[in-house]
Amino acid sequence: MQELTHYINGEHVKGTSGRFADVFNPATGELQAKTPLASVAEMENAVAIAAAAQPAWAAVNPQRRARVMMKYVALLNRDMDKLAEALSREHGKTLPDAAGDVQRGLEVVEYCIGAPQLLKGDYTDSAGPGIDMYSMRQALGVTAGVTPFNFPAMIPMWMFAPAIVCGNAFILKPSERDPSVCLMLAELLEEAGLPKGIIQVVNGDKEAVDAILDNETIQSIGFVGSTPIAEYIYGRGCSNGKRVQCFGGAKNHMIIMPDADMDQVADALLGAGYGAAGERCMAISVALPVGKDTADRLIEKLAPRVESLKIGPYTSGKDVDFGPVITAAAKENILKLVQSGIDDGAKLVVDGRDFSLQGYEDGFFVGAHLFDNVTTDMDIYKKEIFGPVLSTVRTESYEEALKIAMDHEYGNGIAIYTRDGDTARDFANRINVGMVGINVPIPVPLAYHTFGGWKKSVFGDLNQHGPDAFKFYTRTKTVTARWPSGIKEGGEFSIPVME
Ligand code: NAD
Repeated sequence: MQELTHYINGEHVKGTSGRFADVFNPATGELQAKTPLASVAEMENAVAIAAAAQPAWAAVNPQRRARVMMKYVALLNRDMDKLAEALSREHGKTLPDAAGDVQRGLEVVEYCIGAPQLLKGDYTDSAGPGIDMYSMRQALGVTAGVTPFNFPAMIPMWMFAPAIVCGNAFILKPSERDPSVCLMLAELLEEAGLPKGIIQVVNGDKEAVDAILDNETIQSIGFVGSTPIAEYIYGRGCSNGKRVQCFGGAKNHMIIMPDADMDQVADALLGAGYGAAGERCMAISVALPVGKDTADRLIEKLAPRVESLKIGPYTSGKDVDFGPVITAAAKENILKLVQSGIDDGAKLVVDGRDFSLQGYEDGFFVGAHLFDNVTTDMDIYKKEIFGPVLSTVRTESYEEALKIAMDHEYGNGIAIYTRDGDTARDFANRINVGMVGINVPIPVPLAYHTFGGWKKSVFGDLNQHGPDAFKFYTRTKTVTARWPSGIKEGGEFSIPVME
């Protein structure tokens, strides 16, 4: 069995803690690798190397740092198929979806090529007599990121590309479920010209994360994962004086108005509800049709489509719609929630519980499920299922649908399907969710906008990527300068105001 490594100072380094986590092939259920789980000492060593390398990197001019990103884009495109294959092998998502995972990360790298412009400061000439004032954005030092299993390429790139182009060093702690693609991404960055020690991949679990949280050298932490861990990392990181942003779980709704084109809605829900086996923080997991007739038409159109979804291993390429879930435990949790929905009285319109694939009986496959008549007090409504399960909550009015979505504790993404501009406009203005789609089921903002939810889907102030990332990964310093000709004699004892 393959033993994975850390990536420290430009080298693949074996773990020394003696602790490992299992990495499976979710399609076959086979244990294919073990990844080392770093000790506190291993994390401290990685941070010390990064801290020693960072000042020289911050002193490289922004244009040259941007050139590394330019070259990196070319290398990511060169190795796209290899990266997608490594990602699918450990995650289970289809190959086209894995390539999309790399692509959406690559687009943030492209945005980072604009660093020289994005890092420009402000300047006020003659703010007072003979006085000039300017502000600059400076790197933080050593930064760190803790990432989830479901986008093992995209989310690390969303963090390390802006962090590094701003002049920081970055410690990446990937998910222990699918870390291989992160090791490849780090290697490619150095091939693109990044000095050794600026990107360090330290594999691990809670012990490694706690070592990041308590390390005095690390200045900032980015986290993406489930809400309880987001809340924990935000609390402990902030109380240790770090800059922290944490993105948590989700339960995304789609409101379907009576005037929506139901074929479009059904097609949109297929991809948004079941793509990547529902293991996306922007997956739609609740449909909110408005009116009985809308709900009846929705179920009629959707059920046969859900029944005909093709589920299989990534090796089938484009011939499958989605693959297995990440672990046997994830599968068990999803099926337990499905059972709770049945026990609570929801109607299981499409039942995927008996799904089995010949030759892949040990894989972590879960069939597609569609529920109708779900109510807001049920666990299948309240909890994030993170599986191929779509719940339909019938509503009588737009206001009722809006209120249901607004009352949910999560606020990552949401969509409305309607042909009415007034309704769409009202919805976009009033909804308390961070990313809103109007006739767009998965409204993930592009690299030059920012990504982030509201409510319990986020802890912190700034979003991911786009201009917010350049704020998160830099500190503002403001200089007030006066040269001898402007200096008056004698002390000044009252607060200075500009004359
Ligand atoms: P997770 O919270 O289990 O793990 C995320 C990271 O935290 C991993 O690197 C893991 O090693 C680490 N971790 C786990 N337990 C820890 C602990 N007790 N202490 C410290 N660190 C710990 O999440 P996951 O299962 O990998 O990912 C799925 C979750 O991520 C879902 O809830 C999904 O909605 C969320 N997610 C959110 C976004 C977003 O942008 N809001 C994006 C992707 C995924």
